[in-house]
Amino acid sequence: MAQHHLHSKEARNFAPFVLRMSENEAENLLAEIRWGSPSMQVCPWCGVMRKHYRKHKRRRWCCADCNRDFSVTSHSLLHGHKLSFKQLVLAALMFANKVKGSTLLLMSRDLGITPKTCQVLAGKIRESFLKNIDLAPLDGIVHMDGGYFCGKPRKPNCRIKMPADAIAKRFGRKKIQNTAKPWIEAGMTRENWERRADKRTVISICSSAGRGNGSARTMAFVCRSENAADVKRIAEKFITPGSIVMTDEGGAYGALSGLWEHYWVPHAERFSTPEGVSNNMAETFNSRLRRGEYGAFHGFRPKYLQDYAAEFAWRETNRKLSQRDQVLTILRGLLTQGKSEWWRGYWQGHHRKEELGLDYFLNRLT
Ligand SMILES: [Zn+2]
Repeated sequence: MAQHHLHSKEARNFAPFVLRMSENEAENLLAEIRWGSPSMQVCPWCGVMRKHYRKHKRRRWCCADCNRDFSVTSHSLLHGHKLSFKQLVLAALMFANKVKGSTLLLMSRDLGITPKTCQVLAGKIRESFLKNIDLAPLDGIVHMDGGYFCGKPRKPNCRIKMPADAIAKRFGRKKIQNTAKPWIEAGMTRENWERRADKRTVISICSSAGRGNGSARTMAFVCRSENAADVKRIAEKFITPGSIVMTDEGGAYGALSGLWEHYWVPHAERFSTPEGVSNNMAETFNSRLRRGEYGAFHGFRPKYLQDYAAEFAWRETNRKLSQRDQVLTILRGLLTQGKSEWWRGYWQGHHRKEELGLDYFLNRLT
């Protein structure tokens, strides 16, 4: 029987190297990832590639053309960081290793840096995933499914439904009808009941890597609900016409029949039909994100749910890469994007205003 990829040497081939790494080696690694050369640098100010003047003590270079200073992280997502280069490589390694998401406190304890720094660093890694995601349409067999996240009311400590006559006595029958206080009938506080307003759907699509090999590429989009309009917009932009799309029996997926060869599995009865129809690859993604929600993060905020969905789509897509390639992909994403749009000055009050979702990706395509 073939060895599982998580048990192979490739799944642990980078940690020993990173743990022994010196600061110089870490800097050289980042330089090679960013510029593709251990000895030549590209000045981020003027774009000239050559061997610039080295300032050894400060670990920076002075541009031989425009005379301005820069380091290996200048003008990238990591611009202005205060961490050592080794800590950055270690952070990427730990981020890749935690397959169901890395909490801030865990990162903070592992790296010896504050949770605030970890939040910004993890936010920047997610920003790189969002900006580097491959939006080319999926083809072949595509599984599609939606899962609900964020707005789930907590179970009340004591779930006592007030009997109708007690409600009438306390609020007056007429008043109840007029003001409609469903949280009372559900035995919850109003605050708890209103958590439902944060409820969002993550609709994921996964293309097949061949029978028995799971998914090849995964994309995930945050929508307000699992509705036919959003399902159609996702399919039109991100699934090649003529592909085979498999979903569950949800009414929203009826919109797919026509342009796509659409099959559905009745989840009330079974998870796959004898003919091989299932949407298990998308269910796997949902399950991974759900484990992150319950097991690691203890809840998402709607404003940042798309960031987490992009992170988990990256994890799903790259799960079979070697450990080294996963870490290098994360670092490449951080070093090849410009300065952070959403996380620079986060603790000084510069927060992203908008909640990202499906429209963010659709706008990028137009
Ligand atoms: Zn220059």
